[in-house]
Amino acid sequence: MIKNGLISKKKVVVDNTLAGKMKSDIFLRTAFNFITNSVAEAKKFGFTDKNDMDFTVFELAEKLKNTKNCQKCGVELNYDDQKNTLDAHLAHIIPISDGGKLKKDNLRVVCAAC
Ligand SMILES: [Zn+2]
Repeated sequence: MIKNGLISKKKVVVDNTLAGKMKSDIFLRTAFNFITNSVAEAKKFGFTDKNDMDFTVFELAEKLKNTKNCQKCGVELNYDDQKNTLDAHLAHIIPISDGGKLKKDNLRVVCAAC
């Protein structure tokens, strides 16, 4: 079953609604790019059912929006409303290459430097 912005087994699903929203929403765009890269990496290292994601692109966008400080070094994160830029990104705590999973509890928001 295809759900808006959700990972349906090994596929990233994007419908027109999500595509439209991503154009104007840096948080959604950042979250989507993270998911796309993560899935590609997970496939490289052997995607199993255990690695199915337990989050949606919208949940990750919310996490980005609500995190005010880097979860590694603590520096304040900046969102530029005018330029629609964000100096933060999502990262795996345990990298996929080291056996890290595509799960909420293996994610954190970090600054550009981290
Ligand atoms: Zn940092």
